[in-house]
Amino acid sequence: MRWPLSGTPDRAAGPEGPGDVAALDREHVWHPYAAVPQPVAPHVVSRAEGVRLTLADGRELVDGMSSWWAAIHGYNHPELNRALREQLEDMAHVMFGGLTHEPAVRLARRLAAMTGLPKVFLADSGSVAVEVAIKMAFQLTGRGRLLTVRGGYHGDTFGAMSVCDPVNGMHHLFSGVLPEHVFADRPPREYDEGYAARLADLLAGHAHELAAIIVEPVVQGAGGMHFYHPAYLRLLRELADEHGVLLIADEIATGFGRTGELFGCDHAGIRPDIMCLGKALTGGYLSLAATLCTERVARGVGVLMHGPTFMGNPLAAAVANASLDLLEERPWREEVRRIETGLLAGLAGAATAPGVRQVRVLGAIGVIESHEPVDVPAVQDVVMRHGVWLRPFGRLLYAMPPYSIGDDDLERVTTAMTAAARSLGPA
Ligand SMILES: *Cc1c(COP(=O)(O)O)cnc(C)c1O
Repeated sequence: MRWPLSGTPDRAAGPEGPGDVAALDREHVWHPYAAVPQPVAPHVVSRAEGVRLTLADGRELVDGMSSWWAAIHGYNHPELNRALREQLEDMAHVMFGGLTHEPAVRLARRLAAMTGLPKVFLADSGSVAVEVAIKMAFQLTGRGRLLTVRGGYHGDTFGAMSVCDPVNGMHHLFSGVLPEHVFADRPPREYDEGYAARLADLLAGHAHELAAIIVEPVVQGAGGMHFYHPAYLRLLRELADEHGVLLIADEIATGFGRTGELFGCDHAGIRPDIMCLGKALTGGYLSLAATLCTERVARGVGVLMHGPTFMGNPLAAAVANASLDLLEERPWREEVRRIETGLLAGLAGAATAPGVRQVRVLGAIGVIESHEPVDVPAVQDVVMRHGVWLRPFGRLLYAMPPYSIGDDDLERVTTAMTAAARSLGPA
């Protein structure tokens, strides 16, 4: 038989309309933390502009999620679009081994200035940034264990997964493969001497085998949307210094103003030895992350054995630079405070709903925790009928809207959340 085969081209390639997109999605596509096909079909989005998503069926939804902490300036932003277009005219990508370029260098210098950590490894996703941080700590210390707290989330690759909460991070699915690290209890919201003493004991008992402590500062994101007292970060900094262990701050969710300070560590006035950034780094446009460290760590590590193919991608670096420009220009502190006030006022009524265990707000993050796991499609149905996009998980219905959200749209989000909270069954 002849190769290539002769004949006409295959024209049954792409989907034709929204119905086709849904059907083909069902046939072929994995979604996050889902089976294929998933029992409830995802909604087809055709446009995103400002704080609004437009679905293929014409519905408009106010986005309360910032696409998982990322789109802090809103969608389809003219400045971010322009930065990408201009960079595209020069180059979309070149390898970073043996080559360098202005967008990546400029970004590294800015991140170093913002964090006080001068050495920057540009990674292609948050999980990879966490892997790199762990590698740095292992290479530097020659030790191979980590200490973290329960309720954390650090990503889905194996190293990152090994320091996620062992229960809701589903360690049982990978037992025998995941390294076993040291877990302290989840830090309480208020400062507790007893907890602090237990933490200090645990650390002292394992210090000889520990390379690093890794935590999300102040806000634990996907591990339970839990907030804890910044004094524990100061304690961890002191204990790390006392025992010669490194402190890794995973600021992938908390970075760039979300909690009311530029970084979560700023609530405690501490500087980690290694910091991970991601999510809002590119304003929600492209996948990019960074692992930053001190001079001492960088010198101690020497050759770092990591190098992603798309490391330092110029398009991602250019849009990250533009996003940082916007952040510098916008009064984000006031915006986050305004959102915090709006969330507190707007969610107050939800606290008394029978199914609700707690309402909590920090910066531009609002959380309703229910007694029982929420029926995700049912809750989503309620909030969508209020013209809002949210994605609950477990017992949590939460919002972290773009900083650019107006008061009316924010009220729409809190009204939708309150309605959903009232629709929850009693405990
Ligand atoms: C999202 C997240 C990660 C993982 O980032 P990805 O880009 O999804 O790999 C790691 N740590 C924290 C705190 C996160 O919120």
